[in-house]
Amino acid sequence: MPQLARRIGRAKPSAIMQIAEKAKRLKSEGRDIISFSIGVPNFLPGEHVYEAARQALAHDSGQYGSNRGSDAMLDAFLEHINKIGMTGYGRVNLATGVGAKHVLYNLAEALLDEGDTIAFPTPYWTSYLDIAEIVNAKVELLPCGPAQDYKLTPAQLEEALAKKPRVFLFNNPSNPTGMVYTKDEIGALADVIAKYPDTWVITDDIYNRMVFDGVGYHNFVHARPELRDRVIFVDSLSKTYGMPGWRVGFMAGPEVVAQAVVTMNSNHITNLPEIVQAAAVAALSGPQDVPEAKCAEFQAKRDQVMDVMNSIPGVVCPRPQGAFYVFPDVSCAFGKTHGPTGKAIANDVDFCSVLLEAKGVACVPGSAFGEPRAMRISYTCPTPQLEPGMQRIREFFGELS
Ligand code: PMP
Repeated sequence: MPQLARRIGRAKPSAIMQIAEKAKRLKSEGRDIISFSIGVPNFLPGEHVYEAARQALAHDSGQYGSNRGSDAMLDAFLEHINKIGMTGYGRVNLATGVGAKHVLYNLAEALLDEGDTIAFPTPYWTSYLDIAEIVNAKVELLPCGPAQDYKLTPAQLEEALAKKPRVFLFNNPSNPTGMVYTKDEIGALADVIAKYPDTWVITDDIYNRMVFDGVGYHNFVHARPELRDRVIFVDSLSKTYGMPGWRVGFMAGPEVVAQAVVTMNSNHITNLPEIVQAAAVAALSGPQDVPEAKCAEFQAKRDQVMDVMNSIPGVVCPRPQGAFYVFPDVSCAFGKTHGPTGKAIANDVDFCSVLLEAKGVACVPGSAFGEPRAMRISYTCPTPQLEPGMQRIREFFGELS
């Protein structure tokens, strides 16, 4: 048989999906499973989005569309990001993709030659590593453990940028930690970035509308507008509007980078479907009550999760202020045995596996995100499941010795 390309050997299936599949299997066997594993928003957009899609279907042009995106969608996105202070961009600064994941993949292809370095903080969203490995980039991980609230410090960034990586990839609010950088923290990091002109900066900020406690969303270009010529802002409809399956992602950044992504699109997807683009315009420019209500709901759920995590002796759990994740350090459980099942817990993978088997609660091991001391709790489940799920986690800790 002929061989597959070497890059396929470097591509791995998602660890998150593996846990989700196991949870699904147990459920189909009749087990009572509560899933805190997959990061789907679990709500639908407003009716106006479906109506726009139906209208587009009724007036389908049947034609190819723009490789960049329809003017209506680009303009709606420009207006949308103006509201979070991402100003000064025009259509030429934008590109779109089949979700933010595709935009990030295109950016990796557009910015990184084989062997170039991409630096990003750990914990990281799983696909960063996978995408970097597929394009054969060198990865420099910047460890940001629980003791520093999973946040990158200016000193760490300085050390990394001094080595002139081609790309620095940043994620705020963070998946998996839910941490949000304050205005001052972003300002301090922006000051460091300004000193190193050889590095592109990607800010994957798809959770920018899900920020709690009034801390607000901040980007390096707010602190230093001149960084617009190197910062590439990535956004998506998936989490904000409850539209992950519609697959709409965006970037706003330097014209040359946007054009590179458009050229990539012209060689594979050509364009996002007309119906999807019409739905995107409706989501971006229509009533914002659904995302606003969901943000308030997630903040309340964050509090519920934190109350339980803070009550468990030995668990260290930095307080997230965005997205819909909590990322406790559960390493206090390593080396212990779960009494009722007699199973030993050596690490995060054992922890999540025994927790799922014993209590029917699915969480994702932190090693999937480069932090093997922790596990990720995604709290987008239906509200009535949250309390019992958290109680089962508390009980589980009580059964370890
Ligand atoms: N970036 C981060 C940090 C994410 O959490 C996700 C989705 N889990 C993505 C990008 C990809 O989002 P999309 O659905 O737009 O591809």
